[in-house]
Amino acid sequence: MWFPVIIVSTCILALQEVTAAALASDPAVLLLQEYVQINTTSNNNLTPAVAFWKKLADAEGLPFNVVELNQGYPIVVIKWAGSNSSISSIMLNSHMDVVPAKQEDGWKFPPFSAHIENGVMYGRGTQDMKSVSIQYYEALRRLKANGVTLLRDVYMTLMPDEELGAEKGMIPFLQSEEFAKLNVGVELDEGTSYDIPSIPLFYQDKVVWQIEVTCHGVAAHGSTFPPNSATATGKCANVINRFLKFRDEEYAKYTKAGITDAGPYTSVNLNRINGGVANNVIPASVSLTFDIRLGTSVNEEEFEARINKWIAKAGDNITLTYINKNHQSPATVISDSNPFWKAFSSAAAKINLPIMPMVPPGSTDARHVRRAGYPAFGFSPMPNTPFLLHSVNERLDIEVFLKGIPIYQSIIESLASIPAADVADNLSSYLIYTAD
Ligand SMILES: [Zn+2]
Repeated sequence: MWFPVIIVSTCILALQEVTAAALASDPAVLLLQEYVQINTTSNNNLTPAVAFWKKLADAEGLPFNVVELNQGYPIVVIKWAGSNSSISSIMLNSHMDVVPAKQEDGWKFPPFSAHIENGVMYGRGTQDMKSVSIQYYEALRRLKANGVTLLRDVYMTLMPDEELGAEKGMIPFLQSEEFAKLNVGVELDEGTSYDIPSIPLFYQDKVVWQIEVTCHGVAAHGSTFPPNSATATGKCANVINRFLKFRDEEYAKYTKAGITDAGPYTSVNLNRINGGVANNVIPASVSLTFDIRLGTSVNEEEFEARINKWIAKAGDNITLTYINKNHQSPATVISDSNPFWKAFSSAAAKINLPIMPMVPPGSTDARHVRRAGYPAFGFSPMPNTPFLLHSVNERLDIEVFLKGIPIYQSIIESLASIPAADVADNLSSYLIYTAD
């Protein structure tokens, strides 16, 4: 009895190996491997990545443009022309840069090797977000090969510095003539992976504030005994206590909201404490750096006033500096009054794709796009995938990657086929400011 069982299981094993090998040699997988192998760590020379995209654009005979608003920070624009270039276009955005990765941090394989083991590709950028760039390209290439004519122009844009805050990429690009020429109607940007069957669809990003609070006090010999109210550390303790009390209040909201909706709470983290010169000297100053992501209904002016009050109460001689102070970006309307939402959600429904509209805990380039007045969605088709963006051993199941390509085919075809008359001239009618 046991004999046939072994034969069957050996056959299944062999079949799985054959399937895995076939998937690994899929041209789209090879392209992703080649792209991940280009080390585009932030501030690296992006020339090889630009050359990679030029080669792909040339292979399809597509207009290819590099916009370099800041030297060393190229923005790639690839045009897939629709039949009516006079109406607004679809912008498929992604970023070329990735966060640093070092083998010695515990990577199973070199982070820029794109090594595939058991059907899973390991490498920096496999989730964030080189997979999406290749999926956009492959989806458009297949639509073209299948003879599908899109009504609207589709642009692939590839940014150089999303991970650094977009100061040299998306932010100036949105102000440029080159961007105006694209006549964008809607932008797609990155989403995230979660280990759930649904795919998150971001319609708003949180506001990022990073502040440095510096407390000044008496500097003295370590054997002296000034009161807490006079020392830098005593004042900083007051500041920390106030921020952590607020953090507890927000944490309660966070636990109620769960992982899938970060909109209702403000996250606060004390990420750096600097100060001190010697073990036996009371420091003249100590500084604290907080990273704060404002909940979507928080009024910025009121929140700033609150912070000022906490600091004033903590003691004298305390200074506050904003390292990063973004303003609220509006939410994209997620109802059928927004034709882009309607096209996106109906394409998803047609292919039985469970999507979950939500606000992410972090933020993406899409916040700048919405702030500039354009509706935008963040979406990366990586269901049932552990969240490994910026993590050691960032990796992606190549089956999940390949399934994302027909998903984009459906979504892109639907978005680029919205009739001209269905889209209002005033795109801001598809945006809503939630903290007003
Ligand atoms: Zn990203």
